[in-house]
Amino acid sequence: MKVIIFGATGSIGQSALKVIREQRKQEDIQIIAITGNNNVEQLCRDAIEFNVERVVTANDEHLSQLRHNLASYEIKVLSGSEAILETAQIEADWVLSAIIGYNGVPPTLEAIRNSKTVAIANKESLVCAGKIIMDMAEKFHTTILPVDSEHNAIFQCLNGESIKTVRKVTLTASGGPFRNWTLEEMKKATLLEALAHPTWSMGKRISIDSATMFNKALELIEAKYFFHLKTDQLDVIIHPESIIHSMVNFSDNSTIAQLGPHDMKHAIAYTLNYPNRKATTLDEIDFAAQGKLTFEAPDYDRFPALRLAQVVLKSEGGLGAVFNAAKEVALDRFISGEIGFLDMSSLVEEVLMLPEIIGLEHKSPVSLNEVSEVNDLVRRIAKETRL
Ligand code: NAD
Ligand code: MG
Repeated sequence: MKVIIFGATGSIGQSALKVIREQRKQEDIQIIAITGNNNVEQLCRDAIEFNVERVVTANDEHLSQLRHNLASYEIKVLSGSEAILETAQIEADWVLSAIIGYNGVPPTLEAIRNSKTVAIANKESLVCAGKIIMDMAEKFHTTILPVDSEHNAIFQCLNGESIKTVRKVTLTASGGPFRNWTLEEMKKATLLEALAHPTWSMGKRISIDSATMFNKALELIEAKYFFHLKTDQLDVIIHPESIIHSMVNFSDNSTIAQLGPHDMKHAIAYTLNYPNRKATTLDEIDFAAQGKLTFEAPDYDRFPALRLAQVVLKSEGGLGAVFNAAKEVALDRFISGEIGFLDMSSLVEEVLMLPEIIGLEHKSPVSLNEVSEVNDLVRRIAKETRL
């Protein structure tokens, strides 16, 4: 099996390499290309260990160091976003899309055009270009599989079921580090506090998105497109233990849930082996030690991102890219210390309500170019928006 990993040096990318490291003891898995950004050391170590044919850093400034470090190996070394896009044109059996943020969208689309299976961790792809992706996968007969734990769970719950019999899909959310904080406390939340996720260990940006629940907001939009659901079929429940990864309620009021430890390797392994299941050495849940599973209704006042997601879900598709771009800029501005924790959702709300943005509500983008234009426009606006 020929594999390409976009975002190999990240949290998901590294988990995927762990899964493949184990599984290739039993079968032939060739990682033909990996991509990263600033972590050149990691990129080199992985390129050498997995004997890849091609390695790409998104950052041109690292090209000479990467070339130098890999000089004694027969590995093609490249840099820049064009080289990443070119890498997505290589035919492969399984591609993992695990770049963080909007930069992961173009290679995901390109990979769908050229590969047999694309495992999508980059949720921004479905948020910004959901309809385009679903149409492309159909047109090019590409299997797309969700890696995000909630969507992977829903996908597993739907195995052998008809989507027509789905009454409701409930995404679980841990509630993040501020689940029990008051609005006053959240107002003063620091970057370090926002990064302290109670259950999952993830990249920096998605950890902060979990604290604001923008992550769950993006996941609602992701689920709408991936599973062709209507807004009123989507729900969120706070489940602090993060053991149930999501559940599906059917027309006969039976509910099927998928459970697992909070470890992305399970979802990655599922997509790598789909439609089969293969034995792994991954952890199982110790239910007796776990003791109990609890649930709470989400608080839409303290987590306005969930309320804002409804605006996007009810639109015809044009607002996904708007929402994501505004959220990415808000996140940058919070990380740099320019705005406070709660200002992130205020900024996104303000952008969504601008007259020139509201107009996009009925305009579903039909090409990547259109999505990129919206992304660029909203980023410019959100950088300048004063709160
Ligand atoms: P991360 O920050 O740990 O890693 C991101 C990867 O993207 C790295 O390999 C980095 O080099 C690369 N990258 C960064 N900027 C880039 C750029 N401009 N161009 C090209 N590559 C670039 O992120 P992560 O937590 O692994 O998340 C990756 C994706 O998976 C995100 O879309 C996230 O929402 C999704 N996801 C992550 C988790 C998780 O547990 N970490 C769970 C579900 C979904
Ligand atoms: Mg998730």
